[in-house]
Amino acid sequence: MQPNEFRAAPGTLYIVATPIGNLRDLTLRALDILKTADLIAAEDTRVSAGLLAAYGIAGKLFSYREHNEQAASAILLERLRAGKSVALVSDAGSPGISDPGAVVVRAARAAHIPLVPLPGPSAVVTALSAAGLEDGHWQFYGFLPHKAGERRRELEALADYPWPSAFYESPHRLLETVADMVAVLGGERRLFIARELTKRFEEFHACPLNEALAWLNGDENRQRGEFVLIVSGCPADADDGMKEAGRVLAILLEDLPASQAARVAAQITGARKNALYDLAQELKSDQQK
Ligand code: SAM
Repeated sequence: MQPNEFRAAPGTLYIVATPIGNLRDLTLRALDILKTADLIAAEDTRVSAGLLAAYGIAGKLFSYREHNEQAASAILLERLRAGKSVALVSDAGSPGISDPGAVVVRAARAAHIPLVPLPGPSAVVTALSAAGLEDGHWQFYGFLPHKAGERRRELEALADYPWPSAFYESPHRLLETVADMVAVLGGERRLFIARELTKRFEEFHACPLNEALAWLNGDENRQRGEFVLIVSGCPADADDGMKEAGRVLAILLEDLPASQAARVAAQITGARKNALYDLAQELKSDQQK
């Protein structure tokens, strides 16, 4: 062991970030801890076995995944109390970030077991660092709900946030999620797509939301792999935009039903369709008074 190498301390839970693609993105401290921990609690033991094999580490793996998180956490706590050191890893990136980890971390903290997080890769931070955001503020949402109705409701709830929002998305739901972003947030906001970070086909693309589907459909490879999506925030002049959209909507309402008028006004002005539909209902009820 080199003088500045670390050894896993007895009775300590290490939360270890691992690569999100490129295996060289494992920190030296993560290597030290993976080599010396008594137990490596892994989301998928086969995936982590691959990482360990790449570094010639013969660690003892233990399954800690979403479906056994409570039971596995109780077993890990027993081992920690008995003085064993445990390294917690997920398949990729930082444990507990859209990945299992929270249950054992909370239980360990409640039991006053020493916790040591090892910083390292996380897809959201990697994407944000390449996005060139100027404001310094952003929010992380993670995965949107799978069901379209719930997904749209969540996007509605995020719509007024003035800074960028970051999402994780799988290739299976990518197109529907982007379509919902256009429908709910309007087509004018910027979308930054970060695909296959740190991997061979790493790719970045920035465009207005209403051009994103055409870009993704332009080449089926663009829909492959893993994605972080970063959508710009609600523009400061949204109130002015809404005034203009309201004016267009009022004209359309003279000849069209509310839902149609809201859809067309959204297409013309880029304002949010759902917000325009609500406004159309208000305008109609005002007219009836
Ligand atoms: N714990 C991980 C982290 O810290 O980033 C995230 C795990 S989450 C289950 C997996 C999601 O993260 C993927 O669906 C994708 O949205 C994003 N992701 C992970 N690796 C990525 C990569 N190499 N490029 C782009 N996105 C990635």
